[in-house]
Amino acid sequence: MKGRELLMIPGPIEFEPEVLQAMGIPTQSHLAPDFIETFGNSLELMREVWKSPEGQPFIVAGTGTLAMDMAAANLIEQGDRVLVISTGYFGDRFKDIMDRYGAETTILEAPIGEVVSLEAIENELKNRPYKALTFTHVDTSTGILVDPAPIAQLARQYETLSILDGVCSVAGEEIKQDEWGLDIVLTGSQKAIGVPPGLALLVASQKAIEVWGKRKTPVSNYYADWHNWLPIMKGYEERRPSYFGTPAVNLIVALETSLKIISKEGMNERVKRHQKLAKAFRTGISSLNLTILPKTTQSAANTLSAVYYPKGMDSGSFLSKIAHNNVIIAGGLLSEIKTEYFRIGHMGSVSANDLLAVLGALERVLLELGHDIDSGKCLQAFQNELLEIN
Ligand SMILES: *Cc1c(COP(=O)(O)O)cnc(C)c1O
Repeated sequence: MKGRELLMIPGPIEFEPEVLQAMGIPTQSHLAPDFIETFGNSLELMREVWKSPEGQPFIVAGTGTLAMDMAAANLIEQGDRVLVISTGYFGDRFKDIMDRYGAETTILEAPIGEVVSLEAIENELKNRPYKALTFTHVDTSTGILVDPAPIAQLARQYETLSILDGVCSVAGEEIKQDEWGLDIVLTGSQKAIGVPPGLALLVASQKAIEVWGKRKTPVSNYYADWHNWLPIMKGYEERRPSYFGTPAVNLIVALETSLKIISKEGMNERVKRHQKLAKAFRTGISSLNLTILPKTTQSAANTLSAVYYPKGMDSGSFLSKIAHNNVIIAGGLLSEIKTEYFRIGHMGSVSANDLLAVLGALERVLLELGHDIDSGKCLQAFQNELLEIN
């Protein structure tokens, strides 16, 4: 039997073969004309994915966390007030990052499976002025999807910068950075954008760049400082050789390849595919008598699902049984309920076939463990939902 594994965790994900092939080409000079074109084109294609013709894209070697760090390092000065809206583990991480740069943070934490209400956010913004607010589009620890548009609007209304952690959403969920007035939308390469780990990707609004330009104190993180990176991004986009720190050449070649695939599919189509597959998958999950963490389907992510185990399940042995079926899924991440749920990534190049394989493996393991479910029911539910047969 071929030991072919299906990687269905919320990043790194399964990558397109063309993207992996692009990684393997002989490494060029970062100043070679071909590479300058690749870098410049990648920056331009990012604007399409983010729907931000006016924004300033950054591509820097690092992970999604560096993109978060970069937003905080450049926009926040000692004593600035920041409102952190948290729907899980990664929301909380933004508080730690902001605290590190001397921000005065207030955190609004949603109960598990829920979002923070707009009313609670507005009350806080009314209460006192905030320099910025942070929120997570899809919190990968809970599978909670937040609607960014009304929060971005509140931020504008109260003259607060809006910083969206889109690590688990960019190129999977709907994003209209300029239309919605988001100041920062950031991600990492290994999630829905479909490139192996190693790139921090961020688009800043012109307002964010202005606010950064008017800082009174220097950026206290040397590597993340836009003073170092902005001229490089402008240089590559104008097809001029530029150097600050050696770009991750092969990863950027892979990024251009993936962005071209995304652009060919079209962002609207891509979002629809994610929504459709996620909805069908949730139908399959509920046919297995399993429950997802988000309390409403409206707040359920389309890029991953967080699912409670049946009562009394040993989480470690469940995950390893699934792995024996050559499907790799992730355990829980939120410390309070870490052993009570598991997570399945369904973003990027994900197809109906992948999700049928996941449902099949889940069903086999549950049947093996003596759970009272009908064989094939979840597959039928998935197919019917996908084909819109009722
Ligand atoms: C994965 C993830 C991060 C962290 O990204 P890394 O690339 O692991 O540093 C941050 N926020 C969200 C929402 C994520 O899903």
